[in-house]
Amino acid sequence: NDKKTIRAQAAPIAGGDVWSGVWVIIEYSNGKIAPVSWELLGEGRKLADAIGCGLCGVIAGNQVDSVIPEAFAHGAEKVYVIDDPILQDYRTEPYAEAITNVVKKYQPEIILMGATSMGRDVFPAIATRLQTGLTADCTVLGIDPETKLLQQTRPAFGGNIMATILCRTSRPQMATVRPRVMAMPERVEGRVGEIIREEIAFEESDFHTKVLEFINMDAKSAFLDKAEIIVAVGLGLAAKRNLVIAEELAEVLGATIAGTRGAVEAGWLNHDQQVGQSGVTVRPKVYIAIGISGAIQHLVGMETSDFIIAINNDPEAAILKVANYGIVGDLFQVVPAMTAEFKKR
Ligand code: FAD
Repeated sequence: NDKKTIRAQAAPIAGGDVWSGVWVIIEYSNGKIAPVSWELLGEGRKLADAIGCGLCGVIAGNQVDSVIPEAFAHGAEKVYVIDDPILQDYRTEPYAEAITNVVKKYQPEIILMGATSMGRDVFPAIATRLQTGLTADCTVLGIDPETKLLQQTRPAFGGNIMATILCRTSRPQMATVRPRVMAMPERVEGRVGEIIREEIAFEESDFHTKVLEFINMDAKSAFLDKAEIIVAVGLGLAAKRNLVIAEELAEVLGATIAGTRGAVEAGWLNHDQQVGQSGVTVRPKVYIAIGISGAIQHLVGMETSDFIIAINNDPEAAILKVANYGIVGDLFQVVPAMTAEFKKR
């Protein structure tokens, strides 16, 4: 609430500074590319066209050359590559340093990254180094037609409002975006662009952390954001022992189990199975919501699902408003009946 202090912290745009271009930080870790990187190249294309500037990708890691053609195929015109053994395993400090140095050198106007574990960790560290603002967890991006500033929209005040934020006084404008809220762009095989290789200006001894071991998460829940069919449960289920009703339906459909924060806090599910504002954003082909009220914090994580089926005994429940099929009834009767019917097919 001290506006003067907040302003003083932001680095003003120096006279004569030219900040240009939309950049997407492509997340590559343990040999895997986070698909949100491609979603952001698709969204970045629209932003770059609205401003009239270029679209670039940044790839940091060790032995990343296989990622470069993919970045072009998904729409990057130019790719900055920071390839060094120090960047083998993700760690905040070397990644933040490497990306910050390239940003300082080329001065992009906008930089975007997925609101993944890595994006949520490294982007604040980069924003602090650059002394600029960061809007985390955006669900909508746009360009203000008058000022050409990035409109960064995200849930605020516990999800009760959607706030659109502009970063007026510092550059670059930085945002993380939730996976699966932006559409995947068309992949064009063989598209080419410019490659710019950057050296790192630090050594291993500059850092305080070392990766000792990777422990894989439970495979079932780790891939929630890629599941095609999700059966999600809420507090309407009343007790953990009733989870079996949802599990039986999920088994017949080959679906993945997820749930609300209520279900997670009740100890029925793990946190990585939570859908919503403080959990995972999902975009399955089918989302079946069982005994879920449809609080805004839950809806922001699932409302872009292709097809939503909701079962709730309250005809006024908010989830029924976003559902393609709403079934008003007792889940203890409806869900077993659905399972029995699907078993026949
Ligand atoms: P309830 O709201 O209690 O709903 C239970 C529903 O079950 C009701 O609609 C009821 O009609 C129905 N029901 C009851 N019995 C039956 C029956 N026999 N048959 C059919 N239907 C029945 N929530 C999330 O889910 N994800 C988040 O990421 C998240 N983040 C949050 C972040 C913040 C900052 C805050 C403040 C809240 C967050 N929440 C989140 C919590 C959210 O506000 C809700 O409290 C939560 O989603 C409610 O969970 P629920 O739908 O399981 O429970």
